Amino acid sequence: MNLSIETLSKTYSNGVKALDSVNLEIKPGMFGLLGPNGAGKSSLMRTIATLQKPDSGRITFGDIDVLKNQLDLRKVLGYLPQEFGVYPNLSASDLLQYFAKLKGIKSKADRDAIINRVLEVTNLWDVRNKSVSGYSGGMKQRFGIAQLLLNDPKLIIVDEPTAGLDPAERHRFLNVLREIGTDHTVIFSTHIVDDVRELCHELAILNGGKILLRGTPKESIDQL
Ligand code: ADP
Ligand code: ADP
Repeated sequence: MNLSIETLSKTYSNGVKALDSVNLEIKPGMFGLLGPNGAGKSSLMRTIATLQKPDSGRITFGDIDVLKNQLDLRKVLGYLPQEFGVYPNLSASDLLQYFAKLKGIKSKADRDAIINRVLEVTNLWDVRNKSVSGYSGGMKQRFGIAQLLLNDPKLIIVDEPTAGLDPAERHRFLNVLREIGTDHTVIFSTHIVDDVRELCHELAILNGGKILLRGTPKESIDQL
C-alpha cells in the first residue's frame, strides 16, 4: 500500500516552521528520510504516526485517511521512536509474552509462534532469556523492532534507530531492517547517507521542513 503525503505543514507555537508544504509518495519497501538535525524528520514521522497534528495537509495510507481515522492507521502501524525504550528487569521472552497479551493475542500457542518468529527476525533468539534492561543499545533497538512486529504492522516507521550505535551494532540493526523491508512499507530516518544508499530503494532529503531532493539513491545522492 502506498503512503501519500500532500502539502503537509506544521509550525510549532515557538514559531519554528518544522514542515513546509511537504509532498511525498512512498511505495512499499524501504524508504529513507535523510536530513540534518532539525530538518523536520521527527516532526514528519510523528505526524504520519498520528502522534501530533499538522496545521494543514493530507495523509493517506491505502484507503485510510490518516488524519481523520487515526485509530485505523494505528492498527496497522509499527512506530519506533527516537528515544531508547526503558525496560523492566525481565527477559525478552517474558516481555514479549506480556506485550502480546496486551495486544490481544489470546492463545498461548499463537503468542509463542509469533514471539519465536520476531526473536529470529531481530536476531535476539540467543539472548531471549536475558534481561532486556541489560541489553546494549543496539540490542534494545532490535528489541523495539521485535515488539512492534508482534501485531503484524503494514507500515513501519523508525526514527533515527542507529543514532548512538557503534558500527557493528549499526550493521546488525540495518540487516534486520533490510529483511523487514522486503515485505513491509518501512520509513527510516537517518543523517547517515551510506545507510540509505545501502538499504533504500527510494529516499527524500529534508531540510528546513522542505523536501530538497527525492528519488532512487543513484539518481539523487550519487549526483550530489
Ligand atoms: P529532526 O528530526 O530532523 O532533527 P525535528 O522534527 O525534531 O527535526 O525538528 C524540526 C524543527 O522543529 C527543529 O528546529 C526543532 O527544534 C523544532 N521542534 C521540534 N519539536 C518541537 C516542539 N515540540 N516544539 C517546538 N519546536 C520543535
Ligand atoms: P555497547 O557497545 O552498546 O556499550 P556492550 O556490548 O558493551 O554494548 O553491552 C552493553 C550492555 O549490554 C552490558 O550490560 C552487557 O552486559 C549487555 N550485553 C551485551 N551483549 C550481550 C549479550 N549477548 N547478551 C546479554 N547481554 C549483553
